[in-house]
Amino acid sequence: MVKNKINEKQSKHLKLLPGVDHILKKARDNSLFNDIPKSVVIKAVRSVIAKLRESILDNNKNFSDSNLTDALILSDVEKLVQEDMRPNFKRVINATGVVVHTNLGRSLLAKEALKNIVDIAGGYSNLEFDLLNGKRGSRYSLVENILCEISGAESAMVVNNNAGAVFLSLNTVAKQKEVIVSRGELVEIGGSFRIPDVMEKSGAILKEVGTTNRTHLKDYENAISENTGLLLKVHTSNYSVIGFTAAVSLKEMVALGNKSRLPVMEDLGSGTFIDFSKYNMTKEPTIQESVASGADIITFSGDKLLGGPQAGIIIGSKIFINQIKQNPLARALRIDKLTLAALESTLRFYREPEKAVKAIPTLRMLTIPLSDIKDKAEKLVKMLSDIDEPDFNKSGLNQSELSVSISNISSRAGGGALPLLDLPSKAVRISIAGISANSIEKSMRLNNPPIIGRIEDDLFVLDLRTIHNEELAFIVSAIKQIMKTKDN
Ligand SMILES: *Cc1c(COP(=O)(O)O)cnc(C)c1O
Repeated sequence: MVKNKINEKQSKHLKLLPGVDHILKKARDNSLFNDIPKSVVIKAVRSVIAKLRESILDNNKNFSDSNLTDALILSDVEKLVQEDMRPNFKRVINATGVVVHTNLGRSLLAKEALKNIVDIAGGYSNLEFDLLNGKRGSRYSLVENILCEISGAESAMVVNNNAGAVFLSLNTVAKQKEVIVSRGELVEIGGSFRIPDVMEKSGAILKEVGTTNRTHLKDYENAISENTGLLLKVHTSNYSVIGFTAAVSLKEMVALGNKSRLPVMEDLGSGTFIDFSKYNMTKEPTIQESVASGADIITFSGDKLLGGPQAGIIIGSKIFINQIKQNPLARALRIDKLTLAALESTLRFYREPEKAVKAIPTLRMLTIPLSDIKDKAEKLVKMLSDIDEPDFNKSGLNQSELSVSISNISSRAGGGALPLLDLPSKAVRISIAGISANSIEKSMRLNNPPIIGRIEDDLFVLDLRTIHNEELAFIVSAIKQIMKTKDN
């Protein structure tokens, strides 16, 4: 920056600019700042005064001394303080229609799971204590029975996430051995999980077979050697190979594994206990089907279609699951007690799948009838059209600047599941005269709570599938705020 000489007006303003101590004293007398840590107030006061000094010295700005009243300065300090006191990690409103939105926290927990977290977190628990025998117990055993019961598997184990589950399983059964995988299944999941990379880090050696679109049983068969340690199937959860294709079923792989005395593992990714074809959706292979096919190890996520907390679930035959439990790396990937509390509650719902679909938010949002989404859309439109009386008139806003309509839209399952499925949904499209869709999107995103929507055809679009009824009022007040700010 070129240093300019300070002119007379600037020098007058600098003299009028109050010192940090003066404003701090005013703040101390103001009850608004009573519960705010001192350091936060000091930081805000310094920042506001530094900004004012900058504005005074900026020759391009016509600074007026009316900006220098204590009241105005304190009100800017208060804004900064409020911002600073808000947690970085906060609840947002998901108006994208993507149900398992990886960037927005994937699955929401069922009420019962939340209650169990609160209960367990607030007290001591039998996390690693066998109440029956009064001895040290294993945290894994807390969910092992329920996992076996609902999946049909012999044995089960849980870790931090599915990436960890795949890594730990490969490291346990196939370290320094070849793992045979179809070229059509070398998946990359968003955020850097790639089968070849995880394989390498686990110490296993990738042996690709077949082609991208077609892999046959004989491809696996021909690749088997004395170095082979595992046959691996990976569910192509976030894409689909269509057209001239061929893949080997898990059953066929298990038969080959039995013949060659090799274990077979399946990474299901987004595992589900629910047959989605019963709900007019694309069929996803279920966990029970994989177990019935006879795979030795099956891994899947806790927070994708399962609708629970972040976790990696490993089920299968006792001999392999026992080896996995004993791997020293299991400790580094271990699941924490709050997750276990939420996971157990979530899993218990699956004893009655119809109840699970109603109680687990991820499943509820995937299967919600279109008519219910339409009701929410109509409610939001009504609430938006009602704002002019009396709010609009009082604040001089013009309702005619706001235009709102309902349209059809497709929601997505997300979480790398059901990639080709368009879920018919309803959206509310919003435009405000004189404000671009981009700037509406940004204001909504920076709102408190943030509202995450999308832009289509130059309109701000909210998909009602993933918005709860209690959240509609926040959307309305955010829109009101945007219109007010515009007119000021
Ligand atoms: C999502 C996914 C993973 C990773 O699971 P996280 O729970 O995100 O760690 C691994 N494999 C497949 C096929 C997946 O879809």
